[in-house]
Amino acid sequence: MANPKRKLSRSKRDSRRAQWISKLKNPNFSSCPNCGETKLPHRACPKCGYYKGQKLFEAEE
Ligand SMILES: [Zn+2]
Repeated sequence: MANPKRKLSRSKRDSRRAQWISKLKNPNFSSCPNCGETKLPHRACPKCGYYKGQKLFEAEE
């Protein structure tokens, strides 16, 4: 049976879990540089339609 060569130290294990928990609590959201609205990363802002400084579509009100 495959076994890990070295046991992960308590601090290593715990710091990994801490990252995971913070990701669960606040999943990745970035704010739009144009209007400041929270948006998904690598997606155009749903409010103003801007992505990477370019207007991709007209925003719906
Ligand atoms: Zn925006």
